[in-house]
Amino acid sequence: MPDEQTFQFTDIELDKPENGEVLLKTLYISVDPYMRGRMSNKKSYAAPFEVGKPLEGGVVAQVLASNTAELQKGDIVRGTLPFQTHLVVSAENVSKVETNGLSPSAALSVLGMPALTAYFGMMHIGKPQKGETVVVSGAAGAVGQIAGQLAKQVGAYVVGIVGSEEKAAYITEKLGYDAAIEYKKGDVAKQLEEACPNGIDVYYENVGGDIGDAIWPLLNTFARVPVCGAISSYNLKEGEKDIGLRVQQFLIKSRATMQGFLVGDFAEHYKDAYAFLAKGVTDGKIVFEETIHDGFHAIPEAFTGLFTGQNIGKQLVKVADAE
Ligand code: NDP
Repeated sequence: MPDEQTFQFTDIELDKPENGEVLLKTLYISVDPYMRGRMSNKKSYAAPFEVGKPLEGGVVAQVLASNTAELQKGDIVRGTLPFQTHLVVSAENVSKVETNGLSPSAALSVLGMPALTAYFGMMHIGKPQKGETVVVSGAAGAVGQIAGQLAKQVGAYVVGIVGSEEKAAYITEKLGYDAAIEYKKGDVAKQLEEACPNGIDVYYENVGGDIGDAIWPLLNTFARVPVCGAISSYNLKEGEKDIGLRVQQFLIKSRATMQGFLVGDFAEHYKDAYAFLAKGVTDGKIVFEETIHDGFHAIPEAFTGLFTGQNIGKQLVKVADAE
């Protein structure tokens, strides 16, 4: 488990922006569970972070000076960028964002990567139908808060699995989930049986571990399991195995489809998804929370808090106000 000692803050000199470059002031930084995978040299879909080099991830920033016609001083941009309070980057590494009157932070939450992930996992893989039972784990988090609402919109019965009473209240009272299961109270299998009397047609997997094990026996015929994340295994010790129920027998009985995916697999559909999400927010059909830590130095605390469930909705760090 990373802690404050894992991170280091350093002062650097910035060069002036050259042709095609912009000077940016960071406004918001996104800390995400997948970053944990990059803090290891195990082979994965993203290269490991380099020790001594800045972390990088989702950043929303404002252009302070521009050496390209594409971007003007004052523009708000988003990119996968080094975590720095200020930075000089090629304009090709960022894209201008419209936040529809919302805070620029929305470009990292409800109009950003986590919401896209929820959209593609739920709508392209989960494909919930009216009257079906959908279960979402990590239901009060950045992805889960959107995934559940999307399933509700098609008329499914939606159950969320969360780690606290406050989160249970959030998903049922604010997001419209039909029921909440608090996994820390124990016996998730029994809680699920009670909450899902008709079995489970879609399980949106965000956490893995014991929670998945409680799901498999309840899968209905031709159920779908979008496997988005497995946060319970991200901090396993070197050599520690992630062992649970073997899933094959349950997949055969139910003929369920289990599919891992990365949001980037759906890049060709981003434009449509952004438009759908922006309209949902404007129409009040999609609501969301952000947990915002203040100040660049709050990055370690914000990041490590993801693994102990400190966040409701999207966890962000606010670095500066827009001018
Ligand atoms: P969240 O905002 O949901 O934050 C993480 C949450 O996970 C915590 O708040 C906590 O909530 C829960 N959690 C932490 N540890 C455990 C555990 N051991 N067991 C069960 N729950 C735990 O994060 P995101 O919404 O950003 O990400 C959700 C999942 O989706 C992650 O697994 C992430 O890796 C994955 N993801 C995958 C993407 C893809 O392209 N496939 C893209 C983006 C995210 P609680 O209090 O409820 O325990």
